[in-house]
Parts: sequence; structure tokens; C-alpha cells
Amino acid sequence: MAGDSRIGILALQGDVREHARVLAGLGADVVLVRRPEELASVDGLVIPGGESSVMDKLARAFGLQQPLRDVIAAGLPVYGTCAGLIMLADRLTDAIEGQQTLGGLDVTVRRNAFGSQVESFETDLDVPAVGAPPVHAVFIRAPLVEQVGPGVETLAALPDGTVVAVRGGNLIGTSFHPEMNGETRFHRLLMGMAQRR
Ligand code: GLN
Repeated sequence: MAGDSRIGILALQGDVREHARVLAGLGADVVLVRRPEELASVDGLVIPGGESSVMDKLARAFGLQQPLRDVIAAGLPVYGTCAGLIMLADRLTDAIEGQQTLGGLDVTVRRNAFGSQVESFETDLDVPAVGAPPVHAVFIRAPLVEQVGPGVETLAALPDGTVVAVRGGNLIGTSFHPEMNGETRFHRLLMGMAQRR
């Protein structure tokens, strides 16, 4: 089953190794994507956490921005964590000057949204789309989803209503990092989408 999927990880920058470990543990054939050709062979893609402004610059420098936009538009299942969610957002608040995203998710995402006092924190979240038990979510200089477009489903929110996980069509994004603490259910969702293509 799951072992049949070839899942790419955008490997320009960020916590590539942690995602590779989770995906390999689920039986995926993991491909580190640094060149446009490498995108052609994958059934799904992870965009890791890291620093979105750097990832954006590298994606453009490596000639990957347009190919990534093309595969997203063609329906490739993509899961973005943290900086990866920022890369998938159609609109950004608090971007650095000139920062671009790949887009595809009809959401507005605010970078570094939790401020310096609580830049990093952990909490348990109910996420009906992945079932029980709650997800132990690790937030590291995390973004939040400020506005959710009509075709996008909220998968998880903090107790105050702040949206921190979304799914729209072939794209999933979380403000937090399941790959950091052995949480595999979001990667399973991605692999399920990859297999149904
Ligand atoms: N603050 C980072 C950014 O703006 C995201 C942090 C993360 O991925 N852990 O890209």
C-alpha cells in the first residue's frame, strides 16, 4: 500500500531530514528535490519548515519556482509545514520585501505571528481529519492562518480560534511541525492523497 508512493521533499533548506525519517518510516520511497527534473517522478511532495524567505530565494535561484507552481496547479498533493505552509499561501502578511510564495492555497498567512515572547510553544490539538488522540503540536516561530478562502477547510485551530492547519484541494498546510515529535498522521494523509491520483 503506502510503500508504493514516491514522495519528494523540497530539499533547498530546512528540516528535510526529519521529514525524510517520517516518510521512510511509513514506507515511502523518498526523493530529495533540488532540481526541476526530480519533480517529475514524485506522487506527492513535502515542503519542510525552515525560513520561507530563504526557501523562496533558493527556489527562484534553482529554477524551481515555476515548475513547483506548475505541479501544484496540475494537482500534485503537497504538504507544507510551517515555512512550507507559508510557501503554499496565496497571500502573506509580514513578508520580507520582495518575498514571493508558490501559492495554491486560498489563505492569508501571517509570518512569525506569535511574537517574540512565545515564539515557540507546544500544545495538544484536536484534529478531526486525523482522528484521536489529539495531535501534540510543536510551534517554532510559527505562522498563523489569518483568513481562509471559500474552498479551504480548517483542520485545526487553537482554543482562541486561531487557525493552524488547513486543507484545500491537493494542498495541506500546518503551522506546526509533526515531523519533530513522531506524529505521522499528516504524512499519512498526504500519502493517501498521493495514491489516489
Ligand atoms: N518563521 C519562519 C518563516 O517565516 C518559519 C519557521 C519554521 O518553519 N519553523 O519562514
